[in-house]
Amino acid sequence: STALQLTLLPEVETFLSQSPLQGFVGGKNFPNADGNLIATIDPGSGEKIADIHDLNASEIDRAVGIADAAFPAWAALSQQERRGILLKLADAVESRKSIIAQIEALDAGKIQGQAAGDVQNFVDTLRYFVGLADNVEKRTELDVEGHEAWTVKQPWGTCAFIFPWNFPFLLIGWGISPALAAGNTVVIKPAEDTSLSAIYLAQLAKEVGVPDGVINVVTGRGATAGAALSQNRQIKRMSFTGSPEVGQLVGEACGRNLVPVKLELGGKGAAVVFNDVDVEATARALVGAITFHTGQVCCDATRWLIQKDIYDEFVGHCKTMMQNVKIGHPLDPSSQMGPVVNPKQRQRVLGYQDKGKNEGAECLCGGGPAQVEGYEGNYVKPTLLAGSLDNVAAREEIFGPVAYIATFETEEQAIAMANDTDYGLANSVWTKDKERANRVAESMVAGNSWINAHNVFAHGVPYGGVNKSGIGGGVLSVETLMDYYRSTSVVRPLG
Ligand code: NAD
Repeated sequence: STALQLTLLPEVETFLSQSPLQGFVGGKNFPNADGNLIATIDPGSGEKIADIHDLNASEIDRAVGIADAAFPAWAALSQQERRGILLKLADAVESRKSIIAQIEALDAGKIQGQAAGDVQNFVDTLRYFVGLADNVEKRTELDVEGHEAWTVKQPWGTCAFIFPWNFPFLLIGWGISPALAAGNTVVIKPAEDTSLSAIYLAQLAKEVGVPDGVINVVTGRGATAGAALSQNRQIKRMSFTGSPEVGQLVGEACGRNLVPVKLELGGKGAAVVFNDVDVEATARALVGAITFHTGQVCCDATRWLIQKDIYDEFVGHCKTMMQNVKIGHPLDPSSQMGPVVNPKQRQRVLGYQDKGKNEGAECLCGGGPAQVEGYEGNYVKPTLLAGSLDNVAAREEIFGPVAYIATFETEEQAIAMANDTDYGLANSVWTKDKERANRVAESMVAGNSWINAHNVFAHGVPYGGVNKSGIGGGVLSVETLMDYYRSTSVVRPLG
């Protein structure tokens, strides 16, 4: 629409004018041979913004080969040389923040201001891991009687990454920063709906002097391009972020080739709210969390467990706050909540509302699609369902602005309810009682617990799920950096 075009930055227009956009491998555009394209749509307007090339399996394998050929030279650089190159990339991304944020907002349906936060997070993450890698002891002496012994750490080679569509640019930062800082080359397969910011990054990396073949982006569909990458025998590690269903497939493929795999999957987190809280402030925080990026957040609190005596007051505040959320196009500065990523996702969100109601849940607020004047986007209303926790809408990940609310009476009950899930990513506990908060937070069977907050991420705090939420967490911390080194132990008898 013209309203939309008026707001685009000239740099964004120039970038989109490259359409059909190609992958970027070995410092060059990486087109497919057969001309198959995937349309990429603005979720806020339903309009096509560009096409991208849909690579096939042999093209993916060729890309990995190019990344692998670039590995020895990248690994041979000194830590200081690599640091210089990567920090230059971080600076370049930071200076293009508004451009990348606008590309991301258009491509992923993300509120532009939030997209800018994601870009800054990428920059901070890259700087953080470059700093950490500086301090990793590459050679460790071992104390073995009668022998000289030590361990050396080396990068692995080419590491592969498959990303989802909800935080396209931020997750690239979380994934590739430790791998690059440790001296590996990377092949990135972004989600087919949201490949633009990854392509922009690879082009920018070339521009600022990252050696060719170090940061590679391949585009295409999951079942073909993604599957080919997960089955490739040349990759040394795989990191997958996405749904548990696809995570299983990727894990199987890597298992067959004995490629170590990290899986960051879905969640069905709980917020446990005790009766001593500031009810209105807690409602505001949780409504804020469930509407943040339209609820397409894996670590969201989607099950709200409320102590019985404050339930009515809590629900009253939630209803008012949910009804007042300003839904709108991601580039409209007054919008508080944008669309979901595509029509299929909208159907999924609405379908879960129906299935939940069919199983006896009551819809306290919202429900159904939302209309935004002038835009045919994938908008839905913030929604509050209530009922028993054996309901499908309380058990399965919806990935939309839909919270499921239930009551508890005792602390033990609350912990049991929170832990009664196949997932184990992130939960929160809300209370003024510090002892109780600590107790409940530590009792959660999940990678992350927050107290009087939800969705707090800090570099150095390991992030990642257990059970159906994933394998091999430790994201954003030194744990994940160490994954990107292999070690060789050397022993020599004395004398
Ligand atoms: P998805 O699993 O459908 O797709 C993720 C990626 O996998 C995409 O790039 C896709 O192209 C690719 N893919 C699809 N089929 C494939 C196959 N057969 N082989 C290899 N790759 C394939 O997930 P999605 O719908 O894009 O994202 C939503 C999911 O991601 C949610 O479950 C959400 O909770 C999860 N998620 C988790 C985290 C985390 O950190 N734990 C972060 C963000 C999203």
